[in-house]
Amino acid sequence: MLSRKALDIAPSPTLSIDAKAKRMKKEGKDIIGFGAGEPDFNTSAHIKEAAIKAINENFTRYTPASGIPELKEAIISKLFKDNGLKYGPEQIVISNGAKHSLDNVLAALLNEGDEVIIPAPYWVSYPELVKLNGGIPVIVETKQEYNYKLKGPELEKNLSPRTKALILNSPANPTGQVYTRNELEVIASLAVRNNFYIISDEVYEKLVYDGQEHISVASMGEDIQNLTIIVNGVSKTYAMTGWRIGYTASEPRLATVMASIQSHTASNPNSIAQKAAYAAISGPQDCVEEMRQTFEKRRNYMLNKIKDIPLINCIEPKGAFYLFLNIGQAFDKKFRNIPVENANKFTTLLLEHYLVALVPGDAFGAPEYVRVSYATSMENISTGLERLESFLKELV
Ligand SMILES: *Cc1c(COP(=O)(O)O)cnc(C)c1O
Repeated sequence: MLSRKALDIAPSPTLSIDAKAKRMKKEGKDIIGFGAGEPDFNTSAHIKEAAIKAINENFTRYTPASGIPELKEAIISKLFKDNGLKYGPEQIVISNGAKHSLDNVLAALLNEGDEVIIPAPYWVSYPELVKLNGGIPVIVETKQEYNYKLKGPELEKNLSPRTKALILNSPANPTGQVYTRNELEVIASLAVRNNFYIISDEVYEKLVYDGQEHISVASMGEDIQNLTIIVNGVSKTYAMTGWRIGYTASEPRLATVMASIQSHTASNPNSIAQKAAYAAISGPQDCVEEMRQTFEKRRNYMLNKIKDIPLINCIEPKGAFYLFLNIGQAFDKKFRNIPVENANKFTTLLLEHYLVALVPGDAFGAPEYVRVSYATSMENISTGLERLESFLKELV
């Protein structure tokens, strides 16, 4: 008999439509994929060179479990420069990706039955990671009309004596919403007053648009900094998803516990990738701004097109690289006599008949939605949206 905890975990559903799209592509079908959860750019040359140099210099052995000192220093400088936050090296734990960091945080914080508040729509892995670490995900719905922001009263209503933490993700995957200073102040003061942690997933911090500013909730004051665990990494900012480097910044005791857990589960993050991440974080940042501008252009193009397409709508995302489309109006329609019914049916019909791959919203706790990634070329975006429009115009 397998572990009950493990059996309770849903396999990543974002991957199943992706697998189908890939299969169809292999069969020679001209699929437009809007499923990408990673930048469609290559890692910059100076970062790759740092890794090659590390290999040639035989930087290929175990490193300290929580990461090499020079990368910690680079992260500390970044947190000060970009987020106005002071940390010491004993507060930084470098891991094999932000996802791994989230797992470290939850393993260090949770006792069996502890509750973790997760605003929906959420990133697919949050509830599963909480469950794997013995916690209970408490899903709190947010509203499209409030740009999916978690409001104070809703948060307060869901607090209990077992509330251990809140997972906050700004800029957010899948909605693209970005919390403002005022909104964060409300949440921070509730956390301080009720003494729960905020796990702040900031992996999209550099991908913000319309002049919007990314603010870390940890920067709202000393009390909240002590209760916040910043989770970040190089995957999204530097187009380094395959390198697997993430990190946390937290109060020192928690960092020590996470480092100890990691020393047993993973030993250390990849030595070569740490050198590459050092080059990324401490080197020139123009590759980041170039990527951001490209994403912003694509976003603007898509928003402009989508407002004229029937049966769908979305908020104007201020960050990340997704549009989260409300497709609820299509559910009582039919496509060539087949009822559309739900997001899974919608995405399957669209893929099979119009060769466009979108991710159904169920996995994000939002069954009336689909996620459209704009981490793909302008040409694909343009063709894909034309096909989506033709599909929707066929619905009766
Ligand atoms: C991509 C992503 C991550 C994981 O990043 P890695 O560093 O590649 O593990 C974490 N959180 C969100 C919201 C993401 O979209």
